[in-house]
Amino acid sequence: MPDKIIIIGAGVIGAASALALQADGSDVVLIDRKAPCAGASFGNAGVIVNGSCVPTAMPGILFDVVRMLGQTLPPLSIRPTYFHKILPWLLQFIWQSRTAAVKRNATHLHALSEHAVTSWQRLVGTSTLSCLLEETGWLKVYESEKTFAATSKARKLMDETGSKYEVLSAAEILDLEPALAPIFNFGLYQKDCLRIVSPKRLVQGMVDLLLSRGGAFTQFAVERIQLESEKVSLTGPTGILNADKVVVAAGAWSRSLARQLGDDVPLDTERGYHLMLPASTPSLLNGPVMNGESSFVLSPMEDGLRLTSQVEFGGLCADPDYARVRSLLPVAKRMLPGLDAREESVWMGFRPSLPDSLPVLGFSSKSNRVLYAFGHQHLGMTLGAISGSVVADLVAGRKPIMDVSPYNPQRF
Ligand SMILES: Cc1cc2nc3c(=O)[nH]c(=O)nc-3n(C[C@H](O)[C@H](O)[C@H](O)COP(=O)(O)OP(=O)(O)OC[C@H]3O[C@@H](n4cnc5c(N)ncnc54)[C@H](O)[C@@H]3O)c2cc1C
Repeated sequence: MPDKIIIIGAGVIGAASALALQADGSDVVLIDRKAPCAGASFGNAGVIVNGSCVPTAMPGILFDVVRMLGQTLPPLSIRPTYFHKILPWLLQFIWQSRTAAVKRNATHLHALSEHAVTSWQRLVGTSTLSCLLEETGWLKVYESEKTFAATSKARKLMDETGSKYEVLSAAEILDLEPALAPIFNFGLYQKDCLRIVSPKRLVQGMVDLLLSRGGAFTQFAVERIQLESEKVSLTGPTGILNADKVVVAAGAWSRSLARQLGDDVPLDTERGYHLMLPASTPSLLNGPVMNGESSFVLSPMEDGLRLTSQVEFGGLCADPDYARVRSLLPVAKRMLPGLDAREESVWMGFRPSLPDSLPVLGFSSKSNRVLYAFGHQHLGMTLGAISGSVVADLVAGRKPIMDVSPYNPQRF
């Protein structure tokens, strides 16, 4: 009899893990308290950046945070009522901004993300999902020399890890994206990327593929996770589920589940927002573009243009504050004059983030029957497919293609 494996969380990480475990012959049940793709995997910018290696905690981040706290609508904010709760996380985050730690974190991020594009291409193969991924570039644009110069530390890390990029002139930016206003003097361009035309359809499609191959999806909210001698049991308001093994891929909600097993992983959430704007035909942009001055991304998707932005520390319960993302509309209009700035919908989601910007991929300290796969911060779509392969390798006792000790849940 194959092992029965339950995966908690039908976001991109859970769905990719489920497909990879199923390919190994396991009897896979994916569960989520909501329908598939209800979390961060729904509302992101849909960019898969190969070789992405720049951690969030960079040298000088402390001064950046303090400076931004004084701005009216900064790209990074902390809810005053959440400050005391996020403080321990922030202290670890600042500790991770030391030069040596940044270099180490960049190396380990790169070790995963250098497989981003190939692992996605392998995952979707020739299935119907392949039409949801398009080859594209990842363009960041800057008006002032000062802001562009501030990227020098990130560029140095990219040089050191071997992440390829080009520096573009104003004319080269307009060659790539003619609809942009001619106000950007510097560009950073990474060629080897994919864009997801609909993150929602991609994750739902992965779940459909799982079902078509004999797997199952069940709506079930896990309240309690318990290790028993030969199994793991999950309790929720609708009953009890048992499995030989469990993968916790519950995104920003994973911490409390791990804690029940005695594993205290410093996971918190960087809340992020998006605004959907009407699509134009033909699309104004050929690929996703990040405004490096104001830290937001405009991403063309099949159902419109998505503006994503913000890092907000406010925990999992506070109401959204949509004023922040809405305040970017005039800036977006200045960046892309043809933009139809009518708001079609607005959304807030929870990036699952650890202070060192690395995910957790590894077994519980209490048992090899429970494996953790969460904490993919700003890069869960990029790292989804490769994380799924690592999960399957670890469960099967195979050696993954990179050293996975840096992603160990017990590293803190
Ligand atoms: C604004 C924004 C833009 C982004 N842009 C990009 C980008 O361009 N490229 C990129 O690579 N990444 C991007 N990201 C990051 C990426 O979206 C996340 O890292 C990724 O979606 C995390 O996936 P996940 O599966 O871990 O979590 P989620 O997608 O949040 O899934 C977790 C799931 O677990 C379920 N769950 C939680 N608790 C329980 C429970 N107790 N019982 C049952 N189910 C439970 C939830 O309902 C949810 O469906 C962006 C994020 C944001 C917010």
